[in-house]
Amino acid sequence: MPDTSHAPTSVTRKDLFDLPEGVIYLDGNSLGPLPKSVPARTQEMISGEWGEMLIRGWNQADWFTQPGRVGDRVGALIGAPESSVVMGDTLSIKVYQALAAALAMRPGRRVVLSDSGNFPTDLYMARGLLETLGQGHELRVVAPEEAAGAIDEDVAAVMLTEVDYRTGRRHDMDAITRTAQDAGAVMIWDLAHSAGAVPVDLGGSGCEFAVGCTYKYLNGGPGAPAFIYVRPDLADGARPALQGWMGHGAPFAFDLDYRPAGGIERMRVGTPPVIQMTALEEALRVWDGVSMTDVRAAAVALMEQFIEEVEARCPQLSLASPRDPGQRGSQVSFRFAEGYAAMQALIDRGVIGDFRAPDIMRFGFTPLYLDSGDVSAAVDVLEEVLSQELWRDAKYQARSAVT
Ligand SMILES: *Cc1c(COP(=O)(O)O)cnc(C)c1O
Repeated sequence: MPDTSHAPTSVTRKDLFDLPEGVIYLDGNSLGPLPKSVPARTQEMISGEWGEMLIRGWNQADWFTQPGRVGDRVGALIGAPESSVVMGDTLSIKVYQALAAALAMRPGRRVVLSDSGNFPTDLYMARGLLETLGQGHELRVVAPEEAAGAIDEDVAAVMLTEVDYRTGRRHDMDAITRTAQDAGAVMIWDLAHSAGAVPVDLGGSGCEFAVGCTYKYLNGGPGAPAFIYVRPDLADGARPALQGWMGHGAPFAFDLDYRPAGGIERMRVGTPPVIQMTALEEALRVWDGVSMTDVRAAAVALMEQFIEEVEARCPQLSLASPRDPGQRGSQVSFRFAEGYAAMQALIDRGVIGDFRAPDIMRFGFTPLYLDSGDVSAAVDVLEEVLSQELWRDAKYQARSAVT
């Protein structure tokens, strides 16, 4: 019998996704594809709940409790205990909330530490918050490799994204959390490229806050709501900077004074996007019975195959991601000076990845709907685009608004 002890357990469930014919989708790290059952469920919600129940839907269809209910389902995928995650708004807003609450926990400190591999909106939101506070806080941005070493006793909060959106480089979440907490800082993790991609144990990590979005690896669709996690022992004391009525202890008492809800519910702000959250709630069913450890093992196998084949067949590209899969999320990036045009040529031939300035061609690996045959087929097309310089075609040079 062949030795299959190291072969990853198959987690592929392509039949649950509605992928267009002829497309190999390597961009689930940016926008996950449509799970097949989502259109019918959203249609039913729109007609049967909104259409028929009208305002009664808030109670009868449990729209009001949906942010916490869906939060628990997302929480189960990132190692968060029940009632420690709530959905709503966008990730940018959740970053703001987490950082504001963290700074309120360390009133004597004035530094927010982040790194240059962070997604720009996280840094923009942080700067905006610090300006609004007007208390002389400083945002210190260091190289990713220097993040742990830059944590000192001035740092109020360490705010990092676990997996770098360009290169896929992955921080050591547990080690950095410990370093931050040993120095008395509050730890905030952005899991945008982690949730649904790599096993995360929020409870075990001990970090104070985590945030993330659900339209990437969690396939919630464009505009799907974000999530925020607050460590349970802190949730009753965390300061909600955005004091919206849905996070009030008694929203329908319509008090003139704000009084935060107990626990994670205080991180809600306004009316939740029920249609969008219903799409997400349905989309999360593709994870039923799937182990994140198996997903990760399968993703690593796909990535190793991809790197090996690309390096053997496409000498024009150079690996921009860490070679050690342990230091990488679920994407592989290659540098190529004409990466934008090459990606357009690839997309034109049904292989969809994306491009990040200045020269990164980025490919996401999502084993729920990708297998090793897809990886080989994608490299066939990539090899053709590069060896025949098909990217030189003028139609691949013009840039769209969204890359
Ligand atoms: C994708 C991503 C975002 C996007 O924020 P939105 O408010 O949802 O647009 C923010 N931060 C990181 C780290 C991301 O990867």
